[in-house]
Amino acid sequence: MSSAQSSKPWKILVHGGAGAIQPDRFSPEEKQTYLNGLEQAAQLGAEALLQGATALQAATIAVRDLEDNPLFNAGRGAVYHSQGGHELDASVMCGLQQKGAGVSGLTRVKNPVELALILLEKGSHSLLAGGGAESFADRWPQLKRVPPEHFNTDLRKRQYQEFLQKGQMSLDHGGQTVGAVALDLLGNLAAATSTGGLTGKLPGRVSDSAIVGAGTYADNQTCALSATGTGDVFIQRNSCFYTHLLVKSGASLSEACQTSLDDLKAHGGSGGLIAINARGNSAMLFNTQGMFRAQMGWDSPLQAEIV
Ligand code: ASP
Repeated sequence: MSSAQSSKPWKILVHGGAGAIQPDRFSPEEKQTYLNGLEQAAQLGAEALLQGATALQAATIAVRDLEDNPLFNAGRGAVYHSQGGHELDASVMCGLQQKGAGVSGLTRVKNPVELALILLEKGSHSLLAGGGAESFADRWPQLKRVPPEHFNTDLRKRQYQEFLQKGQMSLDHGGQTVGAVALDLLGNLAAATSTGGLTGKLPGRVSDSAIVGAGTYADNQTCALSATGTGDVFIQRNSCFYTHLLVKSGASLSEACQTSLDDLKAHGGSGGLIAINARGNSAMLFNTQGMFRAQMGWDSPLQAEIV
């Protein structure tokens, strides 16, 4: 597929988490597997956009693909909480309606981002958690349910064992939280984010990735944003909403993301943001060693990077 197939601006950006990514930890083959995963998600989102999908649909498709990829900490491949289980969070936001929704503490929903989308489109609440969110999920036969073991991977098991030995909660070194922001052919923006959280988190902990304003935000007049990093600080700083306000006050996307990440750092946090506006300008900034990320758009070929 050529990126020049439409003269109207369209674009999708995805991330697979930011953190202490040491390039020499990966063999060239491992690095390529991560890049392939990111490129596949961006390409699926791009193909959907070119076929007329809304930004909300395309962002959801890209995030769903990353949830199914065991390399990343969302859906299959999610990290373990302190009791040895998984609790999954996700959120989506539509920039046209300026409406978003989040879900938290899921244990049997294969693709949490799809439940967040259903909550946005068909529900009457903004944030559903735990047993109530699972019961809400039961209402939608199209939503795939899986046994909790579906989310297990060997890498996350090893990271959990390390946690049990050290007793320290960690932002892990492999693929992390996933997210996408998109601009569709009609000029609308959307964002989606999904995570397994932090290894060793307390059961019941709600991440920024479930919270509109903290880990996800979209407004056609400013930008669409998805965050990754120390979620508890993103929640304290309401980082995505803050970044949106900076753009609203005239900052460029890069300036706004940088100021927001500086604010995060000043409060003990670290991480990254991906951002896009209705003209198709975009930014992917982080104050960590690296961020798994990829993009594709009407003016830019498919490209994935890690550091
Ligand atoms: N923000 C996520 C959380 O705190 C972690 C991440 O982005 O990797 O759960």
